Amino acid sequence: MHIILLGPPGVGKGTQGAFLAEGQGWERVVTGDLLRVACKQNTDLGRAAKHFMDIGDLVPDDVMIALVKDKLGTLPASRRVVLDGFPRTSAQASSLSLMLSDLNMSIDQVVVLQAEDSSLIKRISGRRSCPKCGAIYNIYLSPPTEDGVCDNDKMALQQRNDDQPMTVSNRLEVYRKQTVPLIDYYEVMGVPVHYIDGEQNIKDVQEAIMIALGLVE
Ligand code: AMP
Repeated sequence: MHIILLGPPGVGKGTQGAFLAEGQGWERVVTGDLLRVACKQNTDLGRAAKHFMDIGDLVPDDVMIALVKDKLGTLPASRRVVLDGFPRTSAQASSLSLMLSDLNMSIDQVVVLQAEDSSLIKRISGRRSCPKCGAIYNIYLSPPTEDGVCDNDKMALQQRNDDQPMTVSNRLEVYRKQTVPLIDYYEVMGVPVHYIDGEQNIKDVQEAIMIALGLVE
């Protein structure tokens, strides 16, 4: 089973994708994380991506398609995958369909997480992460025990460069213009698309996703 998690920045794709992958033993492919690691390590990929990420634009399709192709190529054919952050454009979606059909696979279900812009902006502005273990907090909604410090390893929490207000409004616009049309693409292809209310608390969203995917009664 291959699942795509779609949704605007800040809607909770990372949290829900991690829960799903962990609970089901699936592989999680998170393009934003792969790019952030590449930027940190200053690889060719990181250098090619950084400028686009910093201003909230999409990294060019050819770079992203090659990255995901490589990543999927390293996984055993039987591995189930949750894709978080890919595809984000029509060109990426068509390439993904081709990549998977070459491997005799397809996208089985799409989960679309939805929330109002005002909630997304609040969530993103409060988002902080640990540079060491990657744990994600929100200073308003799920703060660490001690202000500004990771519960797991006491590292100082950081805010992502692209979580600054100007960049966030561009990311929301980019999502609406370039990624929302993919919902129709999958509907037309006959892939089941599940709409989930991402305004609910984390547990309720988790449960709604599990029910939608037929993983619980
Ligand atoms: P995310 O963590 O998913 O919000 O991604 C952070 C940034 O990485 C995005 O704003 C884009 O600049 C870049 N990015 C991640 N995934 C993709 C993708 N599939 N296509 C283009 N750019 C991407």
